[in-house]
Amino acid sequence: MKYYSTNHQAPHATLAEAVKKGLAPDKGLYMPEKIKRLPETFFRDIADMDFQEMSSAVAGAFFGEDIPEGDLTRIVCDTLNFDTPAVNVHDNIWALELFHGPTLAFKDVGGRFMARMLSYFIAQEGGGQKVTVIVATSGDTGSAVANGFLGVEGIDVIVLYPKGKVSEIQEKQFTTLGRNITALEVAGNFDDCQRLVKSAFMDPDLNRKLTLTSANSINVARFLPQAFYYFNAYAQLKRQGKAENIVFCVPSGNFGNITAGLIAWRMGLPVRRFIAANNRNDVFLEYLKTGIYSPRASVQTLANAMDVGDPSNFARVAELYGNSVEAVRKDISGCRYTDEDIRNTIATVYGKYGYLLDPHGACGYQGLADNIAEDETGVFLETAHPAKFKETVEGIIRKDIEIPQRLRDFMAGEKMSVGMSSDFNDFKEYLMTR
Ligand SMILES: *Cc1c(COP(=O)(O)O)cnc(C)c1O
Repeated sequence: MKYYSTNHQAPHATLAEAVKKGLAPDKGLYMPEKIKRLPETFFRDIADMDFQEMSSAVAGAFFGEDIPEGDLTRIVCDTLNFDTPAVNVHDNIWALELFHGPTLAFKDVGGRFMARMLSYFIAQEGGGQKVTVIVATSGDTGSAVANGFLGVEGIDVIVLYPKGKVSEIQEKQFTTLGRNITALEVAGNFDDCQRLVKSAFMDPDLNRKLTLTSANSINVARFLPQAFYYFNAYAQLKRQGKAENIVFCVPSGNFGNITAGLIAWRMGLPVRRFIAANNRNDVFLEYLKTGIYSPRASVQTLANAMDVGDPSNFARVAELYGNSVEAVRKDISGCRYTDEDIRNTIATVYGKYGYLLDPHGACGYQGLADNIAEDETGVFLETAHPAKFKETVEGIIRKDIEIPQRLRDFMAGEKMSVGMSSDFNDFKEYLMTR
C-alpha cells in the first residue's frame, strides 16, 4: 500500500520509505492511500479475541500488503506485552487505561511498534546501514521512544531534552538506559531542541554521513498502531453488553491519538462520536467554533503533554474530512479545561469514586461528564499513570500516592547525559565525530 502526503506535492511513498522518512519531502504528513473496512465477522467475533489477536488483524489491514503475516504478527505481539483495560469509573463512564506499558504512558504503543517495524525494514535491506533516530522531547515522547528502541539492532537513538525543564521522573526514564540510547541535555528550551533536530534533517553533511530518522508522532509507524486500543476498548465493552453508542473522549495535544481513533472508526468500529478534550491550548476548539484554524504559541499547563499550539496531526484530521469544518463538527466536538478545572476534577473524582486521574485523563473524564447523554457509553483515554505527575496529584488530593515498581526502578538508575549548547554547530560537530 502506498502513502500520500497531506500537502499533495510529494511522490507517493512505500511503507518502508514513509517509516524511514517520517515527514514527506513537501513537509506534509503521510496518510495511507486506503483505509480498509474490516469484515463484519471480525466485529462479530471480536469479544472472543485477545488484544494481540485483534491488533494483528487491524495491523494486517494497514500493513499486510507490505509485511508478511508472520513477521507482522511478531511485531504486534512484541509491541503489546501489556494490556489496556477499560475500567468503570462510575455509571456510564469508563477509563481506557493506556499506562500499563514500560514508561506508563500511551506513547509506549507507538514507540515500541515503530522501533520493531524500523528494525524489520533495516534487516530486510541487509542490515548494513545503521540508522540514527533523533528525537526532541519535553518529557513523555523521549522515554517512550528510548525504551521502545532500547537494544534494537541497527538503531542508535539520540534524545534531546531541555536542561532543567523535564521532571526528575521523566528525565530518569531516558537518561539511565545506556546501550544504544544517548541523552543530550540541551542548554535551552524545548523549541531549541526541536530546532536542532529539524536543522539536522536539513543538513547535507550530516545526511551524507548518517541515515537520520525522526520518531515523532508524525511517523505512520507510531501513529497508526494507536488504533489498536480503540478496538480493545470496544471488545471489552461488548463483553459486558455496554458497546452501544460509544463516545470516545481523547485528551489531545498533537492530535495523533484521536486521529488514530477516527481511522479505527473508518475501519468499521461502531462508535457514535468523538470528543477532543483540550487544556487551555484550545486552537482546535476555536476551529470548531469559528471554522478558522489559527495556530499560536502554547501556554504551560498542568497537563503539559497537551501544551501544543499548532497540533501537527491537524493536517490529518482536515484530510479525513475533506477540509470541511461542517463535516468535522458532525463527528467531533470539543471542550477546554483550565488548571483549576483539572484540579477540581482530580479532587472530585478521587473523593467521590476513589479513582485517581492524571491531569491529562482529568480533561478526558470531564469532557464526558459534561457532554454525554444517558443512552451513551463514554470512554475517555487515560493517557498516563498519575504517579508520573506525583507532586501535582499529591498536592491536589493531599495524600501520598503509591509509585509503581517499574517507575521506582527507573528512579534508582544513574543519570547519564551529554551536555550540549543550543548552537546547531555544536550539535552537528557532535554528530559528525561521535
Ligand atoms: C502525548 C500525550 C498526550 C497528547 O496526545 P496527542 O496524540 O499528541 O494528542 C496526552 N496525554 C499524555 C500523557 C501524553 O503523553
